[in-house]
Amino acid sequence: MQLEQLFERLKFDYLPDQLEAVCEQAAKRKLDYPDFLAQALETEWAGRNRKGIDSRMQQAKFPAVKTLEAFEFDFQPSIDRQVVRNLAGLAFVERAENVIFLGPPGVGKTHLAVALGVKAIEAGHRVEFQTLDQLMGRLKKAREENRLDRTLKQLTYPKLLIVDEIGYLPLTRDEASLFFRLINRRYERAAMILTSNKSFADWGEVFGEQVIATAILDRLLHHATTINIKGESYRLKEKRRAGLLKTNPPAGAEDPETGSTEHNPKEEDTDAA
Ligand code: ADP
Ligand code: MG
Repeated sequence: MQLEQLFERLKFDYLPDQLEAVCEQAAKRKLDYPDFLAQALETEWAGRNRKGIDSRMQQAKFPAVKTLEAFEFDFQPSIDRQVVRNLAGLAFVERAENVIFLGPPGVGKTHLAVALGVKAIEAGHRVEFQTLDQLMGRLKKAREENRLDRTLKQLTYPKLLIVDEIGYLPLTRDEASLFFRLINRRYERAAMILTSNKSFADWGEVFGEQVIATAILDRLLHHATTINIKGESYRLKEKRRAGLLKTNPPAGAEDPETGSTEHNPKEEDTDAA
């Protein structure tokens, strides 16, 4: 059989274009047959894997792509970086457990949630990101159109579901019970990451009443890691630093916030977002 025909039958989409380069490399590095074969197959696999990651990234609908590597842990000393590093190993996804980020606005809850989502996608998992508001809109629309059950079922497919911004808008009792149904479906079956600006004690208010809030928390927290971020907004901090820069402090002047005289290279490229 001709090579081209084999590629077609085996559905090799990436190796054909790279074959010349792979052969050249193999000759240069004097690879033996098994190593050459490994190199060639890896080229095909890498192309497929990249395509899978790209399409899962699309499906995830992240508001912006954030990475763990870009997260400055020094800004948020209340976060135990070892805990986050462990989460990045994704055992929680395998075990269908939950992660909950709590804290005031701007401390990096969404950033960390998305960054863990990206890790999960790279590891081959399907991930979906929704704000609670979007999720509620979707569930209510589904119910109006008589397909609530199907939508709830669809929401169990992603290995990791991220529900962002719990607590910004209080839910009605009816909405809270829809949310409970979703939590119930995913409980012990698939992992979730939730973020909230409200402490658990205030979730009664968020969900309209204590009974539903308790039932939701009971399931969510059964197998969960909670990361309580107590710190300042990253954006505000950046702004403040930018402000400090403008007043041009004398060399060696202390940062009034941290008492540090350390030079922070970030000061120079602060955006005003
Ligand atoms: P939250 O969801 O807690 O309100 P975000 O995660 O949206 O906060 O963070 C606000 C902005 O600041 C985002 O652009 C995020 O990438 C950035 N950010 C927050 N904390 C950090 C950090 N420690 N290191 C780097 N960027 C951060
Ligand atoms: Mg957020």
